[in-house]
Amino acid sequence: MNAFELLIIIYHSINSFMATDGGELLKKFVELFLFTVVTYMIASEYGRSKERHLKYLMIGFAALAIDKLIMSLVFSSIVFGDVRLFILNPFLPILDLFLEIFALILLTNSFIYPIFADKVDALKRKITRETFIVIIIVLIIEAFWLVRVTHEPTAAFRSELSYLFLELLKIMVLYSPIFYILSNLKKMGKYGPHIMIAFIVAMITPATNVINVVFFGGASNNLRVFAHPFLFISVLLFTRVTYLKLVDKATIKRELAETKEKYVREHELGKMKDEFVSTVSHELRTPITSMKLYLALLRQKKFGALKKKQQDAVSIVEKETNRLSKLIADILNLSRLEAKKTKLKLENVNIYKLVKNNLYYNLAEQKGVEIENNISKKFIATVDPEKFKQVFINLFSNAVNYARRKISISVKEGVNHWDFIVEDDGPGIEKEKLEKLFDKFYRVGDYLTKDKKGTGLGLAIVKNIVELHNGEVWAESKKGTRFIVRLPK
Ligand code: ADP
Repeated sequence: MNAFELLIIIYHSINSFMATDGGELLKKFVELFLFTVVTYMIASEYGRSKERHLKYLMIGFAALAIDKLIMSLVFSSIVFGDVRLFILNPFLPILDLFLEIFALILLTNSFIYPIFADKVDALKRKITRETFIVIIIVLIIEAFWLVRVTHEPTAAFRSELSYLFLELLKIMVLYSPIFYILSNLKKMGKYGPHIMIAFIVAMITPATNVINVVFFGGASNNLRVFAHPFLFISVLLFTRVTYLKLVDKATIKRELAETKEKYVREHELGKMKDEFVSTVSHELRTPITSMKLYLALLRQKKFGALKKKQQDAVSIVEKETNRLSKLIADILNLSRLEAKKTKLKLENVNIYKLVKNNLYYNLAEQKGVEIENNISKKFIATVDPEKFKQVFINLFSNAVNYARRKISISVKEGVNHWDFIVEDDGPGIEKEKLEKLFDKFYRVGDYLTKDKKGTGLGLAIVKNIVELHNGEVWAESKKGTRFIVRLPK
């Protein structure tokens, strides 16, 4: 006997064993084991995340597991025990097919969940409708079958017309998700094709059974044994997809946790940095005050008359001291605002006057920049005058810095808000940088090559003050730059 003959003999003995009740029991038992493991896997994940699609998947696999459990129990009674159950034999395929088709409807629908993710109700309706129709058809076919079996219990079930119809119905149930996946490949994500292949493989079993019935009257044992593993293989494929999806999720979760940790750490570092900067600034206030005092004394010739060169040096030191002093005031101001230590003192304020008194008006005039104040002279808004003045000073000083010829200030009324608009005809700001403007120390362009002097704190202060008023501020830029402060009425 050569190896090939041996293989044929083994194949035939497996074939004939699989056709016995013992073989059926083995198959059902292996399937039961597999479905239980998969159901357990999904159930434990569902317990953790309570995600809807996992629920559907869990119910689908659980239905298949229950089908196989019932069939395993029945077959083990037949094989190992109660001989009387033998009379059940002709009815078993009827029960098995009923449970299997029902479970398949749930399972197929659970895999196309991504298509319905945003309209779960539609999925529920689809499952209910499909289940209802299919169950009615199954019941009618099975009723006929039951009558036939009761009259002729010895007839081979595979030659029954009802069996053929139920297998055809199975093909239809399995085809439905393939159709859905094909027309929604994008929504299904990267595993869509894998799921489709699994469904196609699952269809081979009922298709082979149909061929068996149509061409061999259901008598071909070879086709019968050939058919069986495909449902099993397809379940392995489904298990693989489910497993890969769970792994993907676990990876994403881990990455998310890492990112969160990093964020918290950086946030803490940022806070420490802010505290450090504000402490240092606080400490710098005293020496700067003495520097200013001595500079004033020098100017007043309290230490004797200064020569021209000495006077020039003193004015440079004075200018830089003022800049330093402004920087420190800005830092401390911002750190107080950020720590939410500042309280608003709201008053009804004439905005026209508040803007008009601005010292940058003079500066604009010196630069030859025209100011167009479109605010009505009697316009009153409820704001904290000191803080709101700061908002205008900061927006205004920027506008003066960058404007070519004209700055315009206006107020627009919305349904529930006022928009305060400061607009200039300067070089404008690139779109992608607009959002960052309000970050601390952010300055457009390279700091070192910047000709305009500044700290990058002005707009951060503006944002904080506006938010303290429950408002919002943003910038737009087409030709020049336009800052809009929106306050609730
Ligand atoms: P500073 O003006 O002290 O640098 P700001 O926070 O007030 O800080 O502004 C941040 C940056 O936004 C500025 O450095 C500048 O690059 C840009 N910017 C602000 N206002 C304008 C404007 N009206 N036109 C063009 N760029 C502006």
